[in-house]
Amino acid sequence: MKEIFIDQTLDLIGQKVVLYGFIETVRNHGKIIFFDLRDRSGVLQTVIAESSPFFEQTKSIRPETVVKIEGEVKERPDRLKNPELKTGAIELEISKLEILSQAQTPPFDLNDDGKKINEETRLKYRYLDLRRTRLQKNLIVRHQTNQFIRNFLSDKNFIEIETPILTKSTPEGARDYLVPSRLYQGKFYALPQSPQQYKQLLMVAGFERYFQISRCFRDEDPRGDRQPEFSQLDIEISYIERDEILNLVEELIVALVKKIFPKKKFLALPFPRLNYGEVMAKYQSDKPDLRQNRNDPDELAFAFVIDFPMFEWKEEEKRWDAVHHPFTQPKLADGSKNKEKLIETLKKNPQSLLSEQFDLVCNGYEVGGGSLRTTDADVLIETFKAMGNDQKEIEEKFGHLIQAFSFGVPPHGGIAPGLDRLLMILQNESSIREVIAFPKTGEGRDLMMDSPSAIEPTQLKELHLKIETKEKK
Ligand code: ASP
Repeated sequence: MKEIFIDQTLDLIGQKVVLYGFIETVRNHGKIIFFDLRDRSGVLQTVIAESSPFFEQTKSIRPETVVKIEGEVKERPDRLKNPELKTGAIELEISKLEILSQAQTPPFDLNDDGKKINEETRLKYRYLDLRRTRLQKNLIVRHQTNQFIRNFLSDKNFIEIETPILTKSTPEGARDYLVPSRLYQGKFYALPQSPQQYKQLLMVAGFERYFQISRCFRDEDPRGDRQPEFSQLDIEISYIERDEILNLVEELIVALVKKIFPKKKFLALPFPRLNYGEVMAKYQSDKPDLRQNRNDPDELAFAFVIDFPMFEWKEEEKRWDAVHHPFTQPKLADGSKNKEKLIETLKKNPQSLLSEQFDLVCNGYEVGGGSLRTTDADVLIETFKAMGNDQKEIEEKFGHLIQAFSFGVPPHGGIAPGLDRLLMILQNESSIREVIAFPKTGEGRDLMMDSPSAIEPTQLKELHLKIETKEKK
């Protein structure tokens, strides 16, 4: 196993080391050849002279060749030091070189930020695109962020629990991705649009403070900056008030930014908590860009938007739909929550209801949403009815949750900041694809694996499926 990373060599002047990595550039000066060696941690100049027994072999080395190099770390003479490079004060004098894998010329340049290269080509060769420093950094910072979040929440007595990927439809307002069941003919699993019901059931199970860096799947129409699957920091807490959830998320983000993105500045602390109605009247958007100076890449204008309406009208389906999701607590226009009045209003006048939903916005993006949840089964059932479900549908879709609540349910609420968007903003990237290792295109295709793709007729048969092809005109 590799023991030394390039960025550690600065402390090893005068010592013999073994390094592994890719050759980034070759500069052949005739009697002496320079190779810039790259690993995950940085780049180091290495040098080999004609007198070395390995010299002949190195002449054929091309960029991106994978090598093992042994040699001595030397301080460069002052006039040859390169202040542009982190390791510019040193170089490695090669005593032994082994080619581990030859490389053909990559289809595009890997030594710049890659922003000018056609994105489809970058995505087709994503494993090469990921060699560039910018993307390596994005993924390393993503790892650090995940690590920070895990430690922060664990220190506050949260536990991380994994929930299923093969599950049953949960309404989050999008279409489900479906997985046909081989064993149960004609039946399907749904991939989770979020772990919403599971995390609420974990509260019923008594876990009190849950989080998960979870993958969510939503089959929505393609739009440039959407991904069919995305990651969110899913949180659920028992015995909690709305402002305690907002305070927790704010504390987490402020601490994270201070530690990992120290150049960033918050426009306002604490994050303003803005009323939905007022925000819409003032900005005509529920995710306003509150930055004072939009040219300053380091300004972060976070805010919470609260007091959303409970329902919105869905014209295509001619029914009311939950603005957040149906598990969100409704409240009367004056903020009160008298049960009889709530049920009466759900029956007669659902559009007048507000909800305990809250969104987190930053620089014009929605970066998270959450709510206090309805734990009273009567109110929950009336909410499902207001959304157009009859008794039978409620039983089929949500019977398990209603039954679970009958065994004692702690009051609870939660939130789910979207990690891709948050990282995109914090890394000054213009697309979430830049902070995801293997994203799909804006049209939902994986160009590297060539997915979605056809499957074998035998697989279809096993799944009891037939494909109907439309006749081409
Ligand atoms: N499940 C919600 C979402 O994915 C978040 C939440 O209410 O906690 O938007």
